[in-house]
Amino acid sequence: MWPAVRKRHDFVTLAIALAAIGLFMATASMVLPALLRHGFGGADGPDAILTNALILNIALILLGWNRYKALNGELEHQKRAEREARQLADKDDLTGSLNRRSFAAMLEGLLSGEKNPDRAIAAIAIDLDNFKQVNDLNGHAAGDKVLCEAAERIAKLLPDGAQLARLGGDEFICAVPYLTHSPDRIDHLVTRMIETVARPVVHQANAIDITVSIGIAGSNQLDGQSIETPAQDLMHKADIAMYHAKKQGKNRFYWFEAPMENELRFRNELEAGIRRGIENDEFVPYYEQQIDLDTGEIVGFEMLARWESPEMGLVNPDIFIPIAEEIGVIADLSERLISKAFEDAKQWDPEITLSVNISPVQMRDPWFAQKILKMLVEHRFPAHRLDIEVTETCLHENIGMVRSMITSLRNQGVKVSLDDFGTGYSSLSQLRSLPFDRLKIDRSFITELSNENQSDKLVDAIVSMSDGLKLPITAEGIENEKVLEALSRWGSMKGQGYHYGRPEPADDVLKRLEMAGKLALTNEDNVVSLANTSDEDDTAKRAG
Ligand code: C2E
Ligand code: CA
Ligand code: CA
Repeated sequence: MWPAVRKRHDFVTLAIALAAIGLFMATASMVLPALLRHGFGGADGPDAILTNALILNIALILLGWNRYKALNGELEHQKRAEREARQLADKDDLTGSLNRRSFAAMLEGLLSGEKNPDRAIAAIAIDLDNFKQVNDLNGHAAGDKVLCEAAERIAKLLPDGAQLARLGGDEFICAVPYLTHSPDRIDHLVTRMIETVARPVVHQANAIDITVSIGIAGSNQLDGQSIETPAQDLMHKADIAMYHAKKQGKNRFYWFEAPMENELRFRNELEAGIRRGIENDEFVPYYEQQIDLDTGEIVGFEMLARWESPEMGLVNPDIFIPIAEEIGVIADLSERLISKAFEDAKQWDPEITLSVNISPVQMRDPWFAQKILKMLVEHRFPAHRLDIEVTETCLHENIGMVRSMITSLRNQGVKVSLDDFGTGYSSLSQLRSLPFDRLKIDRSFITELSNENQSDKLVDAIVSMSDGLKLPITAEGIENEKVLEALSRWGSMKGQGYHYGRPEPADDVLKRLEMAGKLALTNEDNVVSLANTSDEDDTAKRAG
């Protein structure tokens, strides 16, 4: 019922009840004494009309009372529903903590109420690390459980007067009052949060490990320069600090500092630049020579991505590959580069191989091998000339999938090398179970090579291990003659490094090959060629 209509009804009911009570008093004062007198046998009974009027009166009063009670109940019910609705709008359904809207309003209130310069409010932004993976690997029910557990554990640690909210997804935020001369109280609190949330969450007999990254901003860090409200500004600064904690390796906390804002701006510009650069075809393949150390001849090229950025000039992959991986464009970027490299390599002598680096992110795609094979067919590039380099980090993820991927690539004739060998932690049994074609010894071991130092012993160990696995070797990072000489004692292998030249663009490669008489005679050379590389020969020669 509409409130105005109900109010009028209330009023009518009340008026009827009051009139009935008035009438009751009047009739009762006449009827009751007569009734009493009649009861004691003294007189005639009360007037019948008056008696009826009295009964009608009583009925009216009862009716009014009932109506009043019902209306009151209805009113109470509506108030409760309104209260619940307001609470629902203020709270996050899943965890029962505040939501973004109510938190911001609450924080605004706290900040405007705090006038004492010795006191401040810390906004603590908390973000679960790799939460998407928890969802992907264990399902959404497990994800929800992790979120609820995290909220509960954090809430339990909060001091009086503090508030927790879930801003959405796996992002939480707390407002915690503290004394400006003891920010270490906040350090202590967030350290405990990091420890407590890290305790495994058990879901259907599975223990799920999760860590958090935390950013903190104190209200005494606000300078009033922002166009945002103080609460928005504080939450934004905490978020920037949290982001910094992620960048520094996750599972840690940082207080907001002004330079972080610039870092973030730079990072956002880079992200936008990379997306734009892919569209505008600004990424180009560079090539590094791979040499047969026995003959000194070029036997292959490793394709290394470069970004010809209109704003920044030539950018190295160490800068843009990790970002491209993070923002989900690495596969697109890599496929465009590989397509270009196929076209470039078709102009080389058909015996020269092409190595390409593949990110662990690409290896998570179950269709990866199919994509590569499709590209080979589209570009009519012979599979045996392609060498895929994967790093040891790929092996830690889903070894079963990696194995079947490597197997299907190799079944089509593609070679697969283990890159940066020695920097990861692959076990011997893991290596034995994966059908690699070649190991590339990481350049950190090679550049140090002289004679009789620690690196020599390491390389010695790696070489005898690869001999045991019957895997040929490429040594990367050969920077000078001395290293080359040191390598010679281990027999046949391939090598690459600045000693032979820096990575160069496709045109320079063509000039180099032309001078060496190693250009393809016709484009079809490649397709019909059955030329094989001499990988198997290397180990045999070394063993021999
Ligand atoms: P990587 O696979 O280990 O590539 C070799 C890196 O060492 C290259 O750096 C190369 O320029 C450098 N290098 C070569 N010879 C020497 C030397 O003698 N001394 C020293 N100090 N360095 C040498 P770059 O081109 O900056 O590549 C860095 C890394 O980026 C590569 O390491 C590779 O892991 C990754 N990368 C490059 N292109 C791609 C790509 O298209 N996709 C993916 N996923 N990763 C790529
Ligand atoms: Ca490589
Ligand atoms: Ca490498």
